[in-house]
Amino acid sequence: MLVGVPKEIKNNEFRVGLTPGAVREYGAHGHAVLVERDAGAGIGATDADYRAAGAEIAADAAEVFARAAMIVKVKEPQPEEWSQLREGQILFTYLHLAPDPQQARGLMASGVTAVAYETVTDGAGGLPLLAPMSEVAGRLSIQAAATALERPHGGRGILMGGVPGVPPAKVVVIGGGVVGLQAAQVAAGIGAEVAVLDRSLARLRALDAHFAGRVRTRFSTLHAVEEEVASADAVIGAVLIPGAAAPRLVSRAMLGTMKRGAVLVDVAIDQGGCFETSRPTTHAAPTYEVDGVVHYCVANMPGAVPLTSSHALNHATLPFGLALADHGLAALAADPHLRNGLNVHRGRITHRAVADALGEPF
Ligand code: NAD
Repeated sequence: MLVGVPKEIKNNEFRVGLTPGAVREYGAHGHAVLVERDAGAGIGATDADYRAAGAEIAADAAEVFARAAMIVKVKEPQPEEWSQLREGQILFTYLHLAPDPQQARGLMASGVTAVAYETVTDGAGGLPLLAPMSEVAGRLSIQAAATALERPHGGRGILMGGVPGVPPAKVVVIGGGVVGLQAAQVAAGIGAEVAVLDRSLARLRALDAHFAGRVRTRFSTLHAVEEEVASADAVIGAVLIPGAAAPRLVSRAMLGTMKRGAVLVDVAIDQGGCFETSRPTTHAAPTYEVDGVVHYCVANMPGAVPLTSSHALNHATLPFGLALADHGLAALAADPHLRNGLNVHRGRITHRAVADALGEPF
């Protein structure tokens, strides 16, 4: 199969659908890969790197869309991209169609078969193609908090890990899933005092065993959140209720109980945010202040580290992408987890929850 990789064109997107390392794997499976010129520039991968990995370089996106049987991307196609997709072609990328009827109509009109990263599942009930970006965001959230705590960035001027003889910062992580575990790991690694709150006892047990006393766990009640937030230097919002907007766990009134110059990092902002005072920000202007508390609410945190993010994403997508390239649509019939990724096929929405959200027939 000829696999095509266009350069990402969404604003501020520097990741790439296939790294040179992934291109080699497709080659080893007997597939040819066509990569748009400069597609890897955002991660420092040159056209020469792609050629060395066995790819052919296309002069422009139009050539990639016209020739490839499968398109591998990162972000949902933009209007000028979905108009180039066609029936019989496979699109493999993040789509996030539920809140985006305009894109859904564009993909349906194109006739393309679209497999969305975010709805592919695994045997443990997880979302294996979302998890790597949660891992990146979780680790990054502590770097963001540590920077925001610095005085020149509006914070109270506390070094997250402290120094010998001076206590470290107190970091409270609300939500101990993929993001929360990675955040707690990095915060504990720097030497911060860390507490993780969750409503799942099973999750709290797993975290308690994992950290073996290095991180405090606490069941997440209104009272516990109030108490922990009031004494925190940094709070990481990492909750998720699948399929729902994030619950607002920290109210504006609670900000009044916090230390001046404390920091809130709302990783859950892509689901609406879990602090009442959160609003989405960008990497260009990541923070703002409310009632003396610094807020960091960047909706696409992994975009700040496209090199790490592209490799992490490729490792997760590779087996599924190879199955699609090897077997075409038969790969969907063979693997129910990959089949769960199928969102659009020949003009119809083929994922029940996505169809319900869009008001489309299923
Ligand atoms: P996850 O499902 O692995 O973990 C969520 C955790 O929240 C679960 O353990 C759940 O029990 C817990 N939870 C639910 N309600 C709670 C409550 N009231 N109090 C405490 N804990 C509660 O999800 P994840 O992969 O860790 O993702 C967390 C959030 O981060 C999601 O909203 C996700 O979309 C977001 N995210 C954002 C970015 C970004 O760039 N901003 C990147 C990746 C993920």
